[in-house]
Amino acid sequence: MLDVLIVGAGPVGLYLGALLLQEGLAVRILEQRTERSTHSRAIGIHPPGLAALAEVGIAADLISEGVHITRGLARSAGQPVTGLRFEGIGNRYPFILALPQTRTEELLQARVEILDPGALLRGLAVTALHDAGNSVTLTAARAAGEGLDTLEADSQHLTARLVVGADGARSSVRRELRIATRGRNYPDTYLMGDFPDTGTDGSAAVLYLETGGIVESFPLPGGLRRWVVHTDTLLAGACAADLAQLIAARTGVAVPAGENSMLSAFGVRSRMATSMVQGRVALIGDAAHEISPIGGQGMNLGWLDAAALAPIIVAALRGESTGLRLERFEQTRMAAARRASAQAWLNMALGRPAPASFLETRHLLVRAVFGAQWPRDLVARRFSMAGWAHR
Ligand SMILES: Cc1cc2nc3c(=O)[nH]c(=O)nc-3n(C[C@H](O)[C@H](O)[C@H](O)COP(=O)(O)OP(=O)(O)OC[C@H]3O[C@@H](n4cnc5c(N)ncnc54)[C@H](O)[C@@H]3O)c2cc1C
Repeated sequence: MLDVLIVGAGPVGLYLGALLLQEGLAVRILEQRTERSTHSRAIGIHPPGLAALAEVGIAADLISEGVHITRGLARSAGQPVTGLRFEGIGNRYPFILALPQTRTEELLQARVEILDPGALLRGLAVTALHDAGNSVTLTAARAAGEGLDTLEADSQHLTARLVVGADGARSSVRRELRIATRGRNYPDTYLMGDFPDTGTDGSAAVLYLETGGIVESFPLPGGLRRWVVHTDTLLAGACAADLAQLIAARTGVAVPAGENSMLSAFGVRSRMATSMVQGRVALIGDAAHEISPIGGQGMNLGWLDAAALAPIIVAALRGESTGLRLERFEQTRMAAARRASAQAWLNMALGRPAPASFLETRHLLVRAVFGAQWPRDLVARRFSMAGWAHR
């Protein structure tokens, strides 16, 4: 019998897989997709995320490939509002690392394959789960493409002593366990895209606080910049020229629309599972808590779940009693998710459209408060998740 079955080979499932394989456990990671998604999502890896990734030996590779964001700038109507430095946050990684999620997942997968070339099983979608008390059996159907809509008729059964659902916001494991979620859909919508960096902000993240809504700009490897624009409605059919026009109208920055390499419109919701542990099954990552991407914390939060859960799994498989540790795991990880969610809500609220008079007053206040160093350091620590323990 296997020790652990992990459902989902996103960044969180792959990371947990690598941690457990390093402990010598018999692990299989089931992933419905036959190929990794190229849809661009996370780019920000925070210092606690890097500390967690160092435990599976890939932080150095990520750090050498990613852009080190050492400062953040806020501007409005062409004028500086304030600036933050991440160098002063006093930890091992004094920067936020910018690297596309697909590349991070590639490096995680490579690590898993070094530890056990047979651990990752792609093209297997979990459709049912049975917890027998001393083991858990998953039913998985072969998926020919992206997922549950491409399932083939025959299915197979896999049994392990423990199961972890790292299968994202629409988690099948959560559904099988009948664990409810609580949350809300936010009115905020965004259009984002990657363009060649033609500006002079280098490795700084820039927030443009404008009357029409926030525009965010982040450096990416390969001389690119990611632009994220708050929109009035979901602009699902927008093209790169529409995004370039929105950026120019609000910030005055001209991005080369013809050289756009990624474009995506998204809405925002937040969902928390009412429980992360049930019987021999645990939920981690977006399966347990979906956080607004504004603030860039979801993937990092999931890694911290996995880092906290892995030693408990190892202890449980050794026969140690882990009831209290699991209770504490659930309490602390849900508290972390609520904290991240509140931070993301604040980030969204600050980026909503607002009249010029309101913004001017707010900027005056920000300039007065941020005249001192400590409030800037405090906010820099909040943005970079500094101090969030990965154990
Ligand atoms: C626009 C955007 C920007 C973001 N930016 C950031 C950022 O900068 N920093 C950050 O930390 N986070 C960010 N996030 C959030 C981040 O992308 C997610 O939190 C992260 O992907 C969650 O990882 P996960 O492994 O839990 O889930 P997922 O990445 O969703 O992976 C789940 C995996 O499970 C598989 N799966 C699902 N169901 C089944 C099944 N039944 N059987 C088998 N496999 C299954 C899926 O195919 C998928 O591969 C962003 C999100 C968005 C949308």
